[in-house]
Amino acid sequence: MRGHAGGNGLRTACAVVLVLVVTACATPPEAGTVHSGGGSSRADGDGSIPENESISLQDNDHPAIANLDPALLAAVRAAAVDAAARGVELKVTSGWRSKRYQQRLLDEATARYRSAEEARKLVHPPEKSKHVTGHAIDIGPTAAADWLIQHGADHGLCQAFANEMWHFELLTTPGGQCPQPQGTALG
Ligand SMILES: [Zn+2]
Repeated sequence: MRGHAGGNGLRTACAVVLVLVVTACATPPEAGTVHSGGGSSRADGDGSIPENESISLQDNDHPAIANLDPALLAAVRAAAVDAAARGVELKVTSGWRSKRYQQRLLDEATARYRSAEEARKLVHPPEKSKHVTGHAIDIGPTAAADWLIQHGADHGLCQAFANEMWHFELLTTPGGQCPQPQGTALG
């Protein structure tokens, strides 16, 4: 009698191994390198917007928008709806700024004009700037700022300084009258 061993086929188990690759995204620390040029404004969290650039009022993730006084932001957004109905788009060229960023702007102005005194006529120090507290916003382009000078008071928005047609603050009640823009101090 011949036994027949067999029939037990080998089964191959295929193990599927899922490898999860976890990438840690490090945010650059507050202190450190000062970036110049575009692309870095968001990461360093100081609210900077590169010169000659602007952002949308809806850019909620940008520190320049996110850290604005909510009443100011609501007023500007409401004004932007009015403006859009007239074919004018309001863009933000500067909003909230960190103290560090404001200081940097002052330092840059000091270097450019080779005079701290001249620089302070153009850029407020951090402790005086309404941008640092989130109570000021700069609007562009020129046509948009011009529109807001004429119609911003409907939402309480006024041009604060005579020589900064782009700089707006909540300075009156909606529908009220704006005070005369200040002649010398700058934002
Ligand atoms: Zn300003």
